[in-house]
Amino acid sequence: MSKSRHSEAVRVVVRCRPFSRREEVAGSENILEIDDKLGQITIRNPKAPPDEPMKVFTFDSVYGWNSKQSDIYDDAVRPLVESVLHGFNGTIFAYGQTGTGKTFTMQGASNDPDRRGVIPNSFQHIFTQISRTQNQKYLVRSSYLEIYQEDVRDLLCKDNNKKLELKESPEFGVYVRDLSSVVTKNATEIEHVMNIGNQSRSVGFTNMNERSSRSHAIFVITVECSEVGPDGEDHIRVGKLNMVDLAGSERQSKTGAKGKRLKEAAKINLSLSALGNVISALVDGKCTHVPYRDSKLTRLLQDSLGGNAKTVMIATVGPSHKNFEESLATLRYASRAK
Ligand code: ADP
Ligand code: MG
Repeated sequence: MSKSRHSEAVRVVVRCRPFSRREEVAGSENILEIDDKLGQITIRNPKAPPDEPMKVFTFDSVYGWNSKQSDIYDDAVRPLVESVLHGFNGTIFAYGQTGTGKTFTMQGASNDPDRRGVIPNSFQHIFTQISRTQNQKYLVRSSYLEIYQEDVRDLLCKDNNKKLELKESPEFGVYVRDLSSVVTKNATEIEHVMNIGNQSRSVGFTNMNERSSRSHAIFVITVECSEVGPDGEDHIRVGKLNMVDLAGSERQSKTGAKGKRLKEAAKINLSLSALGNVISALVDGKCTHVPYRDSKLTRLLQDSLGGNAKTVMIATVGPSHKNFEESLATLRYASRAK
């Protein structure tokens, strides 16, 4: 049994997407072997001699190319969202190279019930649970923001080019000043909020994939529940759910970035490595210093990483030999977080 099964707080899973049409046509070789019973993934270096031992990584779960959106949700995400409904904080990350299925996993295709991703599935889950309760009153608020080059932008605000400030107060902890927060009463309304944010993500960039591969998008749902206790007083508990579609993890140096591009790349790498450091410090347990302050991303998520909060990291990889270096880097990053 892996040690992370003891520390419930951080779960790391890996999902491998199927070959794309293009990869199939190009005759790509599969370099990944998945054993979902053991939670193991084996990666083969396509350039290595046949007798070189293959690398094996073990995670809390691994999902092969034919895994369903509902498998990911039910196994990896549902317990975390359940704990948010009970007043705890939680964060779900999708981490991996561009084109390996982060957005597919987090968003999916909302018009196809079988292909809905983590975010729309959480909407359904949260509002279904709320509708089943009787003596509690719920308030569900959502925000949607983007961190691009260490600048924070509100995806729900018309003026989404405005850079927002991170603030800290003894009462609220770290928060984003002036960030929109929208109250929604059902799954349809919150889905509408998500769609507005998704549209605003693509504005101002010629190529949507360009922006999404370089920025972190965070959908935040705050669930406030009030209930009259045996003492006749109102008791309020608040849980916060962060769902993060991270910037592509590919090392930018390979793409020959220069000047502005290179600086941008450095900032993206900074927050991904800061995140890796925070998670590995949390998992280590013995570490007294958790370096939250090293990036906007980790500062912003500070109250939802560690402590009583739960974290799920979904690392995504592609099966092709062409992605060997990046897939190996992703598996290494993810296994540091276990
Ligand atoms: P990323 O967000 O990591 O850049 P995408 O989510 O955009 O990657 O996925 C790239 C392509 O692969 C998309 O066309 C997507 O529909 C497809 N894809 C990704 N994961 C899966 C999967 N598990 N099953 C089927 N198609 C997938
Ligand atoms: Mg994407």
